[in-house]
Order: sequence, then structure tokens, then C-alpha cells
Amino acid sequence: MDFPQAERLRKLPPYLFIEMDKKKKAAIEKGVDIISLGIGDPDLATPDFIIEALYKAAKDKANHQYPLGSGLPKFREAVSAWYKRRFGVTLDSKDEVVALIGSKEGIGHLPIGVINPGDVVLVPSPGYPVYHAGTLFAEGVSHFMPLLEKNGFLPDLDVIPADVLKKAKLIWTNSPNNPTSALAGKDFYTKVVEFAKKHNIIVANDAAYTELYYDGKKPVSFLEVPGAKEVGVEFHSLSKTFNMTGWRIGFAVGNKSVLKALADVKGNLDSGVFNPIQYAGIAALEAPDSVTENIRKIYQERRDLFAAGLKKLGWKFQVPQAAFYFWIKVPNGMSSADWCGKVLEEAGIVATPGNGFGAEGEGYFRMTITVDKARLEEALQRLSKLK
Ligand SMILES: *Cc1c(COP(=O)(O)O)cnc(C)c1O
Repeated sequence: MDFPQAERLRKLPPYLFIEMDKKKKAAIEKGVDIISLGIGDPDLATPDFIIEALYKAAKDKANHQYPLGSGLPKFREAVSAWYKRRFGVTLDSKDEVVALIGSKEGIGHLPIGVINPGDVVLVPSPGYPVYHAGTLFAEGVSHFMPLLEKNGFLPDLDVIPADVLKKAKLIWTNSPNNPTSALAGKDFYTKVVEFAKKHNIIVANDAAYTELYYDGKKPVSFLEVPGAKEVGVEFHSLSKTFNMTGWRIGFAVGNKSVLKALADVKGNLDSGVFNPIQYAGIAALEAPDSVTENIRKIYQERRDLFAAGLKKLGWKFQVPQAAFYFWIKVPNGMSSADWCGKVLEEAGIVATPGNGFGAEGEGYFRMTITVDKARLEEALQRLSKLK
């Protein structure tokens, strides 16, 4: 028998990366030497000392049972210490830190804990698809905030209609941004805090990329702004910072009441992060800065090379100051999807159509520098031959 899916699933736009993966696999089957600049998943290895920490903890029988709760006290203390060291932000590890099975898990689950059916969630467009999916699963309604180049790809809070604001309960912000690589500074976050207080809205800031920055310019945390903890939470991940996407570990920090709602949802759905992975996370968070510095150095070289090459092609984009995404205008007036189809067919390169991140992404495409320099050079070569 073939059972229909629930309405809430059918409301979802097709998950972009799965669609892309199908096309990519079809091309590989045809024997094409594909260069994948599609998904934002580091090609670099997790550092050895993190793997060693996992191995050591996995050998201890005490770590084989359900982890439960909001994370090991030691993991939460390591998060708190890292926030102090990196951002100068003080967090109480007891109730201002929650361990997550990757930040995507927490981002997807948060609305279930704080949104009632019909409540509005303010979602950036283009944006990470999980903000909208989580809203739908909670039977909320997404109001999309366009990220426009003229506003530095930051949402314009002043244009959100009053009737929408009345029903709004949650706003998603994301810096360094996926897919645009735009950066929000303290001035933007200060406005967000005022806005949230005025309209009684929870702020959820996605900060997955704060450690992937260039030219030594460190992105800020939302929580660095006075009053931020009163109105919101921040989501963080070890995935991009330490090349740990497959490990599934992240965390949420900030406002206690919001985190309690998230933890209560999780308590009824999952049983926590495998303890040895949390110990590996502790090793990562306590590592000297040289570890992330080495990773940044690799991306910096790639970014410089790719930006120079794309400029030669005459394409329009802003050189990313953080994260590993190039957000580029489709050069010839084609739709994003048609353009990416052409790039795949003629150049064997996977790029992501901008509209997959929301309607406002139409006219753009995204390329990720998660391949080595030789492959990036090959990609630039092939792109220069596009007809
Ligand atoms: C990669 C990514 C995440 C999630 O990473 P996890 O592996 O689930 O921790 C969250 N937000 C954005 C914007 C991302 O690009």
C-alpha cells in the first residue's frame, strides 16, 4: 500500500540538497568528472586529537548508556568557557547551555517548543531551509524577510507589516550568513534586541560560521550585545569549525526560558548526544586557537584564489568575509535553476540555485569552496569555457 504523507510534510518545498544530489549522481553515473561546489560540507578531516578523545571516551563503559539531559556538565562548562574566551560572554553552564545533536536538530525543534499553531515566525529569504521547515512542523506561519544586496543582505526590520508583527513570536537571524556570507555587526544586533523587546519576539541567531572568517576579522556573537540574553538564544555548531559535520554535535546558549522549552521538546524526542562525542566536543572547544587558525588558513587561500578567478570572469559577487560560500549573480539573465543545470552539464560543476534558499534567492547561485585549490583552479578553467 502507498500511504499519503501528512499535510505538514507536503507543504515543504523539496529539500534542495537531496534534489541536487540526485542530479549529481546521475552525472557521475554517466562518467562525468564532477566538481562539487554544492553542499556546505568541509572536505578536511576532523583533527586527530578530537578522534583520540572520542576513542578514549568510547572505551569507558560508563559512556555507553543513554546520555539524557541537556548535555554532560563538563561539556556545558566547556561551552561556557569557550564563549567567555571567544566572545567575552558569560553563560551559566547549568541552565544557559543545551547540547544538540548538531545545531540543525535544535533549529528544527525550537519552534515546537515556543510556537503555537498560526503564530508567525520571521524567516530570512534566502536562508537556511530548516528555519521554514521547523516552522511548518510546529504549524506556525513563516513570514519571509528578504535579504537584499542593497541592505548588505541583512533583513530590514522596519518594513515588516504591523499585523505580521502582532502575530510574530520568533525571528531567525544568521551571521556569518548561509548562503550570502554576509556579516552582521553589533549595530545590527542592537537593533534586533530593541525590536524583539518592543514586539515581544524571541530572537534565535544561527552562528554556525563564526570561526570561519578571513583577514583576521572576527565575527561577533549576538550575545555580545547588552540585553541579548533577555530576548534570545544563539545556535552554534562544531561542524564547520572543526570539520565535524558527520559527528552531530552542536549547542544552543542564551535565554533560560527558551532553552528550557527546547530541552523539554528534546527530552520527549531524543535522549541526548552520545557521551564520547561530547568528550570529543570538549577536546575541540578546549583546543588552542592554532587548530582553527590552521583551518582558516586553508580556506583563506582558497577564497583568495576563487575570488580572483571569478573576478576575471566578470561575475558579480561580494568577496566573502566569513563562511565558505560565494553568492553570485547569475551572469546571463537565466533562471537560477536553468543556469545551475547548464553549469552542471557543460562544466561538470555542481552549484546550488539561489531560489532553493527561498524566493529572494532567485537570480543568484551559490558555490562552496570545500574542495582543494587544484580542484578550484580546474573549476575556474571550466567556467571560463562556458558558452
Ligand atoms: C551547516 C549549518 C548549520 C548546521 O550544522 P550542524 O551540522 O547541524 O550543526 C546550521 N546553520 C547553518 C546556516 C548551516 O549552514
